[in-house]
Amino acid sequence: MERDIFEVRAQDGGGRIGELTVPRAGVTVETPALLPVVNPHVVTVDPSRLESEFGAEILITNSYILYKSEDFRDDALDGGLHELLDFDGAIMTDSGSFQLAEYGEISVTTEEILRFQHDVGSDIGTPVDIPTPPDVDRERAESELETTQERLELAATVDVGEMLVNAPVQGSTYADLREKAGRHAYDTELDVFPVGAVVPLMNEYRYDDMVDVVAAAKRGLGADAPVHLFGAGHPMMFALAVAMGCDLFDSAAYALYARDDRYLTVRGTKQLDDLEYFPCSCPICANYTPDELREFDDWEREELLAEHNLHVTFEEIRTIKQAIRSGDLFELVENRARAHPAMLDGYRALGAHAAQLERADPASKGAFFYLSGESAARPEVLRHRERLFRLNPEGRVLLTEGNPSKNYDESWRVVPPFGPFPRALSETYPLTAEIPERMDGAGYESAARGVARLVAENQECEFTLAHYDWPESALALVPESVRVVELSDA
Ligand SMILES: [Zn+2]
Repeated sequence: MERDIFEVRAQDGGGRIGELTVPRAGVTVETPALLPVVNPHVVTVDPSRLESEFGAEILITNSYILYKSEDFRDDALDGGLHELLDFDGAIMTDSGSFQLAEYGEISVTTEEILRFQHDVGSDIGTPVDIPTPPDVDRERAESELETTQERLELAATVDVGEMLVNAPVQGSTYADLREKAGRHAYDTELDVFPVGAVVPLMNEYRYDDMVDVVAAAKRGLGADAPVHLFGAGHPMMFALAVAMGCDLFDSAAYALYARDDRYLTVRGTKQLDDLEYFPCSCPICANYTPDELREFDDWEREELLAEHNLHVTFEEIRTIKQAIRSGDLFELVENRARAHPAMLDGYRALGAHAAQLERADPASKGAFFYLSGESAARPEVLRHRERLFRLNPEGRVLLTEGNPSKNYDESWRVVPPFGPFPRALSETYPLTAEIPERMDGAGYESAARGVARLVAENQECEFTLAHYDWPESALALVPESVRVVELSDA
């Protein structure tokens, strides 16, 4: 099926800059995009300000709260959501699945809530799916997924005019179910694909499991599917999630955290009470010191903190977009991964999906910076090794970190973490990489794996490896048939 509402404009790894056309709102949303969550009962920052001051192109509100609300239901039906919230951009509505997960039941069907969402003027509606939590037994995950899938099929038959409809991807922590759910959702006529029920994983800092869940869902979804990481609002993990291929995020965190005096940063969450300085230059942090902010009464302090939280969150989205344009999203992810050991686990899990990311990664970018052992697992390194497959040296071949030698038929360079390559490729991406003088074990081991790969593909050649002080762990990976020479004096 051809989907014409989402177009990818630029790509880096699994990360992309896209354009999501929202026909009912008459707007195009640039992704990655953040959807601030607006609770009509508790408006912390006015939606009109979200648009004018923070640049929000899209927000999300809960249609089930409106549906049940004596205060707002009629207003929403009469004037529409855009008027009620005073917001001109795109409005996505959730269905009450969250309430279903929290309280066990809700009193509305998929058909009723979709019609209601349509009637209040929502631009992107949501059926009532079942958000199956992580780690449930397989039987439950399967049977709840079946219900979700029935509801998606039903949702596709409800006439909602130009309103786009979400097709949530569930399946708990079972990779095969997530993949199957992704494929099924993609095959419906629905439009946007939230990966659901990942909030418990994030609350428990299980970023590696989150990466596996997203990777599985993405395997089932087509490359032109806009993907929403549902409930993910902490800027610390946006870069990682974007690198996996997530396009939309929603943040209730900016307001909820502010209520508890929590201050968001890309390196984690701080308590206002613990801060002597603000590591930020947003209007709030530029105008007040932490002491001054503590002096405000509860409501004002909450609002000011929420504004800082929004500023830092939107700033991170812009930082990520620029990184995609510059081709250094992985450097950003790697940097963010240093904020917390659990984030490092997430980044390492991402490395295990390098082959999946490699398919979408552009062949050439600006520069590759080797920043840690994890850089050796990047898609570009994998691609280089695959490319070795197609290169066939002949005769006696020197693979060297030093100078070429006339005593051999061919002299190739060896550079960690990539491994061997013909000198003629030296100026091509990613072999132009900036690597540290003090390379780590993972980089050398990766290069040794490249040597092993080349040798395995070219058994008729006679290989010599000349290296400067490679560690034992790397030399152990070099095949026995290779003559190894240690170079002295770098
Ligand atoms: Zn700030």
